[in-house]
Amino acid sequence: MVFDKTGTLTEGRPVLTEAVPNGMSADELVRLAAAVQQGSEHPLARAVVEAAKAKGIAIPPAGQVTALPGRGVAAMVDGRALKLGSSRLLQETGIDPGPLAADAGALEQKGNTVSWLMADDGTQRLLGLLAFGDRVKPAAARAVSRLHALGVKTVLLTGDNKGSAAAVGSTLGIDQVIAEVLPSDKADKVNSLKREGQVVAMVGDGINDAPALAAADVGFAMATGTDVAMHAAGVTLMRGEPALVPDAIDISRRTYSKIRQNLFWAFIYNLVGIPLAAFGLLNPVIAGAAMAFSSVSVITNALLLRRWKAAE
Ligand SMILES: [Mg+2]
Repeated sequence: MVFDKTGTLTEGRPVLTEAVPNGMSADELVRLAAAVQQGSEHPLARAVVEAAKAKGIAIPPAGQVTALPGRGVAAMVDGRALKLGSSRLLQETGIDPGPLAADAGALEQKGNTVSWLMADDGTQRLLGLLAFGDRVKPAAARAVSRLHALGVKTVLLTGDNKGSAAAVGSTLGIDQVIAEVLPSDKADKVNSLKREGQVVAMVGDGINDAPALAAADVGFAMATGTDVAMHAAGVTLMRGEPALVPDAIDISRRTYSKIRQNLFWAFIYNLVGIPLAAFGLLNPVIAGAAMAFSSVSVITNALLLRRWKAAE
């Protein structure tokens, strides 16, 4: 089972994962950062504002909000000139991040994006860093462990960098992680797994997953994803929920075993009934009853599948 990462195993949108303050409380750092960014539609800005609201922090108004293209944003909050932005902005201001550089390195290693909040009130100084990550879906780890219980090997196939791919892979206990794959190469990776003699299924949500979904023996598309992915895949999961993948395999296996059971019974009835009838040993009334009973028993057996329930 080959999984896409972003939007399939993860939420697909950034959330504030950590706030590391420098000389203030973490809540104060989030309060100031949210104030600077409250008017912005940028995904990272929305993540800060959402985090502040979730913590019940009152966001103060900001004045003189200025975008620093490709770097961040500057604003006046509580009478202080603040700047919030990327590592590039930090470098340009010439502020030494000191011990926070190690925190930033470790967070980036885990696949986070880091923003820096700086104050410029006479002297320039660093107020802290904010780390953003794409959170793993709550049921993703359970989905992976259930697949392992079903005897299915799991692979993570992503265009994202090795650090964040490895972090998600180890959080979820995925068997194999293939990172930094160009969108056009995803299908090639699926094909190479097939050439190793494996039956390959692919789960994805994006346009970039469509060729791989089509190349796999079975493609699973998330209904929360793109239409192209749903067209390319054989199975559409009606919720963006990775746990539906083991459910789909489970119901497929049970359906297949039902088909085999029913074929067995259909053949047994005929194998016994036809020779008996041919040699005149079977009363037509009993033969007619047996014919009807075989249909009833096969359909009843099939209807037992209605008792199937998705695992919690
Ligand atoms: Mg995706």
